[in-house]
Formats: sequence, structure tokens, C-alpha cells
Amino acid sequence: MWWLSELEQRFGKRLRKDEFLKKHTSWHVGGKAAFFAEPINEQEILRLIHMAREKSLSLIVLGGGTNVLVHDKGFEGIVISTKSLRGIKRLGETRFIFEAGVLTSQILSLTRKENLSGWEHMAGIPGTLGGALIGNAGVAGKTVEERVVWVESLERNLSHKKWERDDIKWDYRDSSLAQGNRFILRACLDFRPSTRETVDSSINYYAQKRSNQPSKGFSAGSVFKNISPVEPAGLLLEKYHCKGLSEGNASVSDRHANFIINNGNATSNEIWRLIKRCRDIILENHGKWLDLEVNLIGGPWRQ
Ligand SMILES: Cc1cc2nc3c(=O)[nH]c(=O)nc-3n(C[C@H](O)[C@H](O)[C@H](O)COP(=O)(O)OP(=O)(O)OC[C@H]3O[C@@H](n4cnc5c(N)ncnc54)[C@H](O)[C@@H]3O)c2cc1C
Repeated sequence: MWWLSELEQRFGKRLRKDEFLKKHTSWHVGGKAAFFAEPINEQEILRLIHMAREKSLSLIVLGGGTNVLVHDKGFEGIVISTKSLRGIKRLGETRFIFEAGVLTSQILSLTRKENLSGWEHMAGIPGTLGGALIGNAGVAGKTVEERVVWVESLERNLSHKKWERDDIKWDYRDSSLAQGNRFILRACLDFRPSTRETVDSSINYYAQKRSNQPSKGFSAGSVFKNISPVEPAGLLLEKYHCKGLSEGNASVSDRHANFIINNGNATSNEIWRLIKRCRDIILENHGKWLDLEVNLIGGPWRQ
């Protein structure tokens, strides 16, 4: 395969065949990706997308892997990890450009150090900026969206697109950036001048809100989206006795019913069976369907 040796030459150890995705997800489950690449710049991303198109290979972007469930059979295509795309450029007193792979925790450390406010609600939300933009991550009604000036993406036809904040449709744990299989390259975020005391007290406030989250085992945060602000999925799951349910080594957290924990050696299939069980319980008892907050990779996923 000439195309593969060309990629191997260019990427070296940053391109791996049959890479276990469980190594790259916070749930620690998931089979192998046929190819796993860690580009360090835009040229390399372009090369990968171009190659995937030419060879009709499926392609998926992976940030921190903290909001995905990867099938035990893995992914028959190229996984592009944003792990090595962590550039940061300052534009002014309060503005920065961050590459997609910059960790949300890195942004928090930076804004805290610079006495800038507006990112404190992201304390305790793991993952990268790219993943946070795709899912409009946040907590208690505060989301990433509020800090966005613009986002730059690479579209699947290899064209560049710059999105002003208002060009993007932002929703609860969703954004229009998620449609169309695009690659988020970078974003410009703007913060507010503040003081260290204010920033720290705000971080503490949001950290307190997380005190009911499980402290042991591997998870991907909330599994289901809330049906509405007055019907949080976690409370419904608790009301209908889902806490503590288990399938193999996966169990519903007894601290927060919207968290499914891999207690060590769970498989993706065990987590999926538990997801379906919880969903059926809510459908039967409450008449409502819980939408997934986590993203499914690979498959097929039997309903
Ligand atoms: C303990 C814990 C607590 C959590 N608490 C919260 C919370 O309070 N609020 C909240 O919103 N979330 C929470 N999460 C979920 C998760 O942290 C966020 O959704 C996070 O923003 C995901 O980022 P990521 O980089 O890990 O994305 P990934 O899981 O890697 O990917 C998520 C999706 O984004 C896509 N994607 C990622 N990067 C790019 C890119 N550059 N271009 C195109 N597509 C991309 C992926 O293909 C995938 O579809 C929690 C997770 C954990 C483990």
C-alpha cells in the first residue's frame, strides 16, 4: 500500500495501526482503530483527510475522548487525535487563539494566572477545546459558547471556514459545528478582566457543584441529556431506582445516577447494555426517551 508507506514516512510513530482506543478514552473501553494519527499541524491534517477521501476510509476526530463510547469492535478507519495540536497565541489583554487540542484545564490555568474570568465553570470538565465547542460543554446554564469570538474549521471538501459566534447555532450540549464531519482547527476566546480572588471563589463555587459526582472508576460524565431543566436525567434515573444497576463490570454510579462507571474491566457492550436498560426503564415508567449526551463511535450499535 503505497499510500500507507507515504503516511508512515511522514508521521513516524505518530501514525499507528491497530491502536486500542480504550487507551484514549476516559471510559477506558473500545476496540482498535485501523489507523490512529496524531498530526502536529494543518498540512498533516489536510494530508490525512485527503488520503481518507481518496481511499474511501471513514474518518473521525478524537479530542480528550471524555465524551465518547467506542464500540468493542473499534473503528474501521482513521482516527485523528488532536493531542498534539496545543498551540496558544495571545491577541490582546483578554483574547487568545487556542488550537483545538488545548485542554480545557490548560485554558483554566492560563486565565487564572492572568486574572481573567469567564472560564471558571469549566473547572472539572475534562477534554479539549475542540470537544467542548462541538458539544457546547458547560454546567449550570453556563457554556463555552459565551466566550467564543470565532471558530475556524476545515470542512470535508478541504476548504477553510471561519465562523463568527453568531453564525453558529448553539444548543444544550450541542452546536451546529457538530454537523458535517468538520475538523475544528482553532478558536478565538475572549475573557473578562477580574481578580485572582474572584476567579478562585468562582472556581470553588463550580467545584462544589461537582461534589455529588463519583470519585472512583472510569466514566464519561453524564450519559444522557436532561429532558428539560426541570427534568434532569440524573434525578429521573434515581427516582426510578437505576442507581447501582449493573451489567458485568459496568454500573450506574450510586452517587450520581447519570454516570455509568467502568469499575475496571468493563466492555463497551456492557456499558451499552446498561444504557439501554436505563433508557427502557425511563421510557416505561415516565413515557420519555432519554437522548444520549455521549457520542457513539464505531458500531453497529444494536438498539
Ligand atoms: C468526569 C467527567 C465530568 C464531565 N462533566 C461534564 C460537564 O459538567 N459538562 C459537560 O458539558 N461535559 C462534561 N463531561 C463530558 C466531556 O468532558 C465534555 O463533553 C468535553 O467537552 C469533551 O471534550 P473531548 O475533547 O474529550 O471530546 P471527545 O470526547 O474527544 O469528542 C467528543 C465529540 O467531539 C468531536 N470532536 C472532538 N474534537 C474535535 C475537533 N477538533 N473537531 C471536530 N470534532 C471534534 C468528536 O468526534 C466527538 O464526536 C464530563 C466528562 C467526564 C469524564
